[in-house]
Amino acid sequence: MTATEALELEARRAALLNAVRHEGKADVAAVIGRLLGAHPELRQKAPDIRTLVARVIDEVNAMSPADQEKVIQERWPEELAREKPKSERGLPPLPNVDNYPKIVTRFSPNPDSVLHLGNARAVILSHDYARKYSGTFILRFEDTDPRLKKAALQYYDLIRDDLKWLQCSWDQEYLQSDRLEVYYQYAEELIRKAAAYVCECAPEDFKQLIEAGRACPCRNIPPDHNLARWRGMLEGKYEEGEAVVRVKTDLDHPNPAVRDWPALRVIDTEKYPHPRVGSKYRVWPLYNMACGVDDHLMAISHVIRGKEHLTNMERQKYLYKHLAWRYPDAIHYGRLRVIGMDLSKSKMMRALEEGVYADLSDPRLGTLMALRRRGITPQALRVVVYEVGPRPVDATISWQNVYAANRKIIDPTARRFFFVDKPVYLSVSGVKNSRTVKVPVHPDHAEMGTREITVDAKDGASRLLVSKGDMNLLKPGAIVRLMDLFNLKVNRADSDGVIGELVSETYAEARKVDAPLIHWLPELHNCKATVVMPTAERIEGFGEPALTTCQVDEIIQLVRFGFGRVDVAAKDSVIIYFAHQ
Ligand SMILES: [Zn+2]
Repeated sequence: MTATEALELEARRAALLNAVRHEGKADVAAVIGRLLGAHPELRQKAPDIRTLVARVIDEVNAMSPADQEKVIQERWPEELAREKPKSERGLPPLPNVDNYPKIVTRFSPNPDSVLHLGNARAVILSHDYARKYSGTFILRFEDTDPRLKKAALQYYDLIRDDLKWLQCSWDQEYLQSDRLEVYYQYAEELIRKAAAYVCECAPEDFKQLIEAGRACPCRNIPPDHNLARWRGMLEGKYEEGEAVVRVKTDLDHPNPAVRDWPALRVIDTEKYPHPRVGSKYRVWPLYNMACGVDDHLMAISHVIRGKEHLTNMERQKYLYKHLAWRYPDAIHYGRLRVIGMDLSKSKMMRALEEGVYADLSDPRLGTLMALRRRGITPQALRVVVYEVGPRPVDATISWQNVYAANRKIIDPTARRFFFVDKPVYLSVSGVKNSRTVKVPVHPDHAEMGTREITVDAKDGASRLLVSKGDMNLLKPGAIVRLMDLFNLKVNRADSDGVIGELVSETYAEARKVDAPLIHWLPELHNCKATVVMPTAERIEGFGEPALTTCQVDEIIQLVRFGFGRVDVAAKDSVIIYFAHQ
């Protein structure tokens, strides 16, 4: 094997390992980093390595995840054994795994909005546990309330996008609005068994009785009579609120909200059509009926959800008892409070309707769409979710936790650029010739190359731009280093701008006098740049020319300003969404 072949083999191994850890898609920067980490002498040949790795990754990413894993299994079985526990670090084992032929988990959103940071926990835990045990992960849309929690067509796809972005691929997908006949079948079975009944009582009357632990008159009607009422429901003989199927529980259950809970009700779908099935059905299951039946039929082994569902579990256990089913293992994690973020979906949707937000990716929101737009990575959310895990105690996280995790992930690969906000003119004398400086793309990764900035000199002076925020460093008499350019002494600074003179060239000279480092731009060679902050404030400024080489979605660092994601990349201007410092 030649040295080149050996290197290619190593690149392939690194790419495959990276791919199996990231849903089948290897990352160029990560693989290059790994190769150069192992062979520092190759840093001089970085462009060649980049070409090689790009080619290998194209091949690897074209393979299915199963094939990728197979190749590793065949050639480097020891790697797979080593890699696996690492990706699962932090997830405690699931209980009673041996009771099930297969571990099956589900994530079941109502498509009446997109997912937010709080949902990431349920998605990631459910998905990652299924993968950890080589099980099945199900996406189930719970869209059976066309009246109060009405689904909207666009959210089905937006939620699918959210899951893909979180790298949580699902093995099966169900839409409850396709399954009404299934719920009807079990409703009928329950009624036949006298485990459920059709209640015609006025809601207020029923409430009074049940709170006193007493049966309503409908509870003890013989099943045949109840079945007739049930058929009447299906045939449209009842208006909304006139009949509801109730599942029998203990009338003296300590929690009145559990007693004889409602399972199916009439919804006037002429008035409130369902976005997918219109007015085809008038009888709709409530949450516990649809969820309870589906969890059983889909052979869910472990339900992983927030503890606000504990009462629902109590309710559903009666359903399972009536039908002689075994209730899955349930893991109820504690509440997750995010400091500085209101996770309430209803409040958010109301504000959206009122036009407070242009859309659900508004940077002020905690939706996954908004986080994605700002350059928060799914890997960072995974780190945060693994930290809180499935623990039942309430947890509080701050945005700083998310940012710290994200910074660790993006910092090694984010290209650096100068961005001057609220620009102020800086005129420097003593510059003999125009010059083009080469600035490292990344201060710690020489292999990422350099970027060029050209500074013109006219009549022995250069005109530059600096940020208004740096005016406090540009006081008359001060010596300041313009990063990667030269050192200047400030002669004058006022509202018209700053005037200075070149005093020395090197960074070493600047260090001798402890000169602060600031970033800058030439007055002429630059592009227009806008940064949209998490408050939705738009900061206008200029960026260096190389900024226009960015592609949409690239995560970059604006030097001394912060990280962000390129949202719009035009020929001579860019818009960046700010992530964090
Ligand atoms: Zn009744």
